[in-house]
Amino acid sequence: MDFELNEQQRIIRKMVRDFATNEITPLADDLDRNKEFPADILKKAAALSLLGVRVPPEYGGAGLDMLSYIIVLEEIAYACASTAVILSVHNTLGNGTIMKYGTDAQKEAWLPRTATGEKLGAYLLTEPGAGSDAASLATKAEKVADGWRVNGSKAFITNGAHCGCGILYAVTDSAAGTKGISAFVLDMQSEGVSSGPEEKKMGLNASSTTMISLEDVIIPEENLLGEEGRGFNIAMEMLNAGRIGIAAQSLGIARAALDEAIRYSAEREQFGKPINRFQSIQWHLTDMATDVEASRLLTYRAAVDYEAGKTIIKEAAMAKLFASRTAVNCAEKAVQVHGGYGYIKEYKVERLFRDARVTEIYEGTSEVQRMVIARQLG
Ligand SMILES: Cc1cc2nc3c(=O)[nH]c(=O)nc-3n(C[C@H](O)[C@H](O)[C@H](O)COP(=O)(O)OP(=O)(O)OC[C@H]3O[C@@H](n4cnc5c(N)ncnc54)[C@H](O)[C@@H]3O)c2cc1C
Repeated sequence: MDFELNEQQRIIRKMVRDFATNEITPLADDLDRNKEFPADILKKAAALSLLGVRVPPEYGGAGLDMLSYIIVLEEIAYACASTAVILSVHNTLGNGTIMKYGTDAQKEAWLPRTATGEKLGAYLLTEPGAGSDAASLATKAEKVADGWRVNGSKAFITNGAHCGCGILYAVTDSAAGTKGISAFVLDMQSEGVSSGPEEKKMGLNASSTTMISLEDVIIPEENLLGEEGRGFNIAMEMLNAGRIGIAAQSLGIARAALDEAIRYSAEREQFGKPINRFQSIQWHLTDMATDVEASRLLTYRAAVDYEAGKTIIKEAAMAKLFASRTAVNCAEKAVQVHGGYGYIKEYKVERLFRDARVTEIYEGTSEVQRMVIARQLG
């Protein structure tokens, strides 16, 4: 068992950490306050191949391994959790699905444009009536002469107002249960596709989250992804990989909260000494640091196993369950360490506290992760 990063992974980490420190950190608070999508940051990220982290070089990507990608997300989330979720959905659930299930023609048609950031990816699974119970989709794709006609609506779509390439899940056979769901690559500029207004969220304010309406949208036959009726399996398999990405986002948030708490508690004095001399503050810091390390081990292990082609259903769910709880706990403790200042928007921990919360909700709530783990335990 080797706990060291290889040389390439160390180089990637330094490159992305420098990028995040210089280009993202100075803007992150304003982007959150102004609810502004980080379009300029994404352009710079694309120039560093961060929109095609795992896409093979022949399609214009960096072709990196899963652990390198997870480190990218951790470093970006440390600076800005909104930017991290944009990249996570785009790279894992967008690019990743086409890489894994696309035909050569589909890869050639889409990956060179997504990997360079020309088209941002999205994952269109959730609906107003289908959240944790993702099999109960109402969006229908009906066979027509030139492909499929789709009607329905999708809820909470990350990158919704900015995406060009959606991975859509819709019912193609109402009588076949989960075997009646199929996956499609959806050109988001197609006639009949429209994005609703931005959801007003608790956090992740620089990310875009919208409803997507689909009204008589014609999807050409060649955009069916994988076999007809395999869509539910594809959605669930991609969520396994996605959950490692959300674990990495959580890890980045938790580490940022820990660092803010360490820094502040060394500077702030009460009763004539820095507050980090008080045991109760030290215990907050030690518990945070221990949980951050445990989250990293679970997350990196899931990533390495994924790269090795192992089944990672349980490992990914455990990493997401634990790392997301750690992000919420660490952000909460960091606010506490900051006292009244932690409640003031000028301090980064206030944003971390709001951003952390959703990590326990999307790509499967913590209750759903426990259901997944329980099934794997037999
Ligand atoms: C900011 C944001 C971004 C998102 N991005 C995307 C995206 O890009 N694409 C996409 O498809 N979706 C996206 N989602 C949707 C997200 O994945 C869902 O919100 C999530 O899966 C939960 O579904 P729900 O909100 O309908 O909650 P519900 O499923 O209604 O759950 C409500 C509560 O009931 C619990 N519950 C439900 N069923 C069970 C059960 N069987 N046992 C125990 N407890 C249960 C849940 O854990 C939860 O606590 C996003 C959501 C948010 C908030």
